[in-house]
Amino acid sequence: MPDIVADQNALENARRFAGKEHGLFIDGVWREPRSGSAFEMRNPGDGTLLGQAAKGEAADVDLAVRAARTALEGVWADTKPAERARLLWRLADAIEAHADDFALLETLNNGKPLRDARLFDVPHAIETLRYNSGWATKLGGDTINLSGPGTWHAFTVREPIGVVAAIVPWNAPFAMSVAKMAPALAAGCTLILKPAEQTPLTALRLAHLVEEVGFPKGVFNLVTGFGETAGAALVEHPGVDKVTFTGSTEVGRHIVRAAAGNFKRVTLELGGKTPVIVMPDADITRAIEGAARSIFTNAGQVCNAGSRLFAHESVFDALVEGVAEHAGKLRVGPGLDPATQMGPVVSQEQKDRVLGYIEAGVREGARISGQGTAASGPGYFVPPTVLTGTLPTMSVVREEIFGPVLCAMSFSDGDLDAIAARANDTDYGLGAIVWTQNLSAAHRLSRKLKAGTVRVNGGGLDPALPFGGFKQSGWGRENGRDGIEAYTELKSIAIAL
Ligand code: NAP
Ligand code: MG
Repeated sequence: MPDIVADQNALENARRFAGKEHGLFIDGVWREPRSGSAFEMRNPGDGTLLGQAAKGEAADVDLAVRAARTALEGVWADTKPAERARLLWRLADAIEAHADDFALLETLNNGKPLRDARLFDVPHAIETLRYNSGWATKLGGDTINLSGPGTWHAFTVREPIGVVAAIVPWNAPFAMSVAKMAPALAAGCTLILKPAEQTPLTALRLAHLVEEVGFPKGVFNLVTGFGETAGAALVEHPGVDKVTFTGSTEVGRHIVRAAAGNFKRVTLELGGKTPVIVMPDADITRAIEGAARSIFTNAGQVCNAGSRLFAHESVFDALVEGVAEHAGKLRVGPGLDPATQMGPVVSQEQKDRVLGYIEAGVREGARISGQGTAASGPGYFVPPTVLTGTLPTMSVVREEIFGPVLCAMSFSDGDLDAIAARANDTDYGLGAIVWTQNLSAAHRLSRKLKAGTVRVNGGGLDPALPFGGFKQSGWGRENGRDGIEAYTELKSIAIAL
């Protein structure tokens, strides 16, 4: 277990970086935004001001799109796949050499426990870069046998889709920025990244390393700013060929409409309401730990958080008691405090939203069967909460709360179709988690669940494993071969011989 106490010098450096004047990174140089204005970046752990980020708007977006287009058709098109791979690998090495800077910046700006940033967010970003760098030299097509008259040589090639706009949220800002950048650049695309207004810090640091490791200018551009201005300008811009977005279902719907102008390709990673199904034969101790981790990690601000628990009645009480005990013991506090196990949520707005859902649940008849203590103080802390007596019609069961709130429900029948029907009774379809030691039930349930990723008895993210949603959880997949192919167009070529 690495030391979780922040190195004071490194922390000072991170604060100094946050507080310096930041521009927009466009065409390989740092520029002032046309608006001449900036917006605040805050520490959710104590509400203090960290610094200001440049407020990019439509004019800046236009410059960035032009730069990305020029690079796409010029220097990046001339860069061999092996060289793209080397650049991405070099970026991974550079991040690794500065891993702690990134972890500290992520904790300062997002609020998550420093241990989580060090053990998950930063290493995951590094692995994603290395995994995708390997794909740069391996993308190709097929030879196809045609049946029409004549003699043909027919084959397919994969070409970069073009200029990509990546719009990311605030819950895992660094890992998600890299999860979009790595496959896009590996595939030969160029990119404009728009981080969430709450959390631009690690993206700013990333842009400095992109500059240092020597990516050609215009390949990676960073426009910080607001969704309604910078984000909207990107999704409407005719020079953007693809939008890759992670965030709310509502904004996802807006992006689909805006992208219709030039039929941009769109990949959407939206919300979730992941069911956690515990069968009577499950390893209960592990199921309890897994269920608690799944909903309380990152203070529940995870699209794939296990927010609906379905446990067989024979183990339901043990599950609820166990998860409630976890909630009661969790040390909630600022991410920089080494004792903290769950950090704050990202903003006052998100705190109000989560508390509002707990209140609504209770008003609609749910009971609080377990609740931890939110740290006092100025940070945006909410108590980890377990609700029982929740019905499928309640807002806490239907809507994505994006906070540490678990709705626990039981089932009495062992019929897998009935269990799957309950789990599938949602507009979302991002993930599902099953706890069982019965191999046949594990396989059969996995097939019945309408979710992009089914995990049995634990597991996490891996850059090789496709990730994405069924139903209103999104379009397309990230990670794996499918993830990088989503940044390509397939071209068929047929030559009469
Ligand atoms: P959001 O508005 O969907 O934010 C995601 C990204 O989209 C941000 O960069 C945002 O910019 C940008 N954006 C907003 N409006 C846009 C527009 N019209 N055109 C283009 N881009 C736009 O999410 P949020 O408001 O921060 O969070 C609200 C809820 O969404 C959460 O409570 C949670 O339920 C859900 N959420 C889900 C995920 C997920 O991983 N699936 C992640 C985050 C949030 P700004 O930052 O300036 O708004
Ligand atoms: Mg927003």
